[in-house]
Amino acid sequence: MTKTTILSLLFLLITLITVDSQAQTKDLADRLFKIHETYREQTLTQRRFKQKDILPLISKRQGNAMYQIETVGESFEGRAIQMIKVGNGKKKVLLWTQMHGDEPTATMASFDIFNFLEGRNDGFDEIRKKLLDNTTLYFVPMLNPDGAERYQRRTMQGIDMNRDAAARQTPEAQILKGLVDRLKPDYGFNLHDQSPRYSAGRSPKVATISFLATSYDYELSINNVRERSMQLIVGMNKILQKYIPGQVARYADDHEPRGFGDNVQKWGTTLVLIESGGYVGDPEKQYIRQLNFMAILSALDKISDNSLTKENREEYYNIPENGRWVYDLVVRNATVRQTGKSFTADLGINRNEVSYSNATKFFYYSKIEDFGDLHPQYGSQEIDATGLTIEKGKVYPTTYKNVSEISKLNALNLLKEGYTYVRLAPDANTRALGLYFTTTPLHILRSGQAVPSGTPGLGNTATFILKKAGKVKYAVINGFVHDLDDFNSEKGQGIIE
Ligand SMILES: [Zn+2]
Repeated sequence: MTKTTILSLLFLLITLITVDSQAQTKDLADRLFKIHETYREQTLTQRRFKQKDILPLISKRQGNAMYQIETVGESFEGRAIQMIKVGNGKKKVLLWTQMHGDEPTATMASFDIFNFLEGRNDGFDEIRKKLLDNTTLYFVPMLNPDGAERYQRRTMQGIDMNRDAAARQTPEAQILKGLVDRLKPDYGFNLHDQSPRYSAGRSPKVATISFLATSYDYELSINNVRERSMQLIVGMNKILQKYIPGQVARYADDHEPRGFGDNVQKWGTTLVLIESGGYVGDPEKQYIRQLNFMAILSALDKISDNSLTKENREEYYNIPENGRWVYDLVVRNATVRQTGKSFTADLGINRNEVSYSNATKFFYYSKIEDFGDLHPQYGSQEIDATGLTIEKGKVYPTTYKNVSEISKLNALNLLKEGYTYVRLAPDANTRALGLYFTTTPLHILRSGQAVPSGTPGLGNTATFILKKAGKVKYAVINGFVHDLDDFNSEKGQGIIE
């Protein structure tokens, strides 16, 4: 054989091995994705759970020899924060979730991961053995239980603990810093949720998962510690693209000297930030939870056999940055009439969640958040209002004693006549009943509540009609669109204001 032939054979062999290892990784990811349902923690079904809902899931593992459970401190309000240790390997990985109380997706995924680690005879025994022989995993689920209690980002002190890594005025930040100092983990997973309205780059697609290989200095330097975090992200991105093509993004890598991600990276732990964003049709983030399960376990697998080092860190920069361009609803090119003049405007509308019932539930309250030329922005839902005129709806002349009377009205007929508002009688005390919304597609006004004046515009509740040639084509009630030619009274959520 000539030298050239040998070289090309060698090259072919290397290519085959590389392709093979990539195929195996993808295969593992696919298998993890499929097995998730088997290990989904059945008691966690929606986002607004609290510490009391996860405590039994931790305590039932107390007697299990697989785990060591340790109370690592108390929140400001006195809730014990626990760490669950599993595995006996040399590589130490610290994973914490929900340092922001209203960011629970990875907490759900953590308990799915425990269930998975306890599984047997499902084709994953070797993977589990490799993982638990080579790594020791330290999980701190729900680092900010006081925030979770209120379903709020900040701790009970009103501090964003992800801006408290340097000052450490919250006990929760002291706990995390203490663990990093004591365990000196090789890897850290800082697990968050982000706004469901970030886009992946300048695209109409929302970022379902965003990553960040945090910067440890203002120069955005890359040492070995940070390089590994980029490599882990490159690996997870490849896996996720199959399930959420074009919906993976990354944060700009500006250094935040108060953030935990940035400081943990500086303190010498390879830190990966994972943010669960939005996915249309998945408001409770159960699909994103499944993606977390798959991506985190795949990353841990790559840590366990060090195969993450095969990834090219340069590919990190090919992941588009988070943009902020996606509204829940964009109405395009509506004709607006104001004081006898007319012009064209787009409306950017968001359906914001409002907590009630001790933050165990929420309803949507929708506002017009931008008005004017929104051509660079997108809507998860869009209506083309070219040739349609936007108007405020009318108030129905009859008042009603309660919401259930209103729910018996024929909403379609009212909307066709241009009535979007129905008023309650003065003695109908809905607030005392804890009523904030209605399934009836109407905007209910409490006694004394004024209808917004003028043309619907910036800052108004998103209730209005769009008329074509004098006829109502669309009624938008509390940000939900009702096409009167294709009406479904079950759709959307009316509001009691
Ligand atoms: Zn967060």
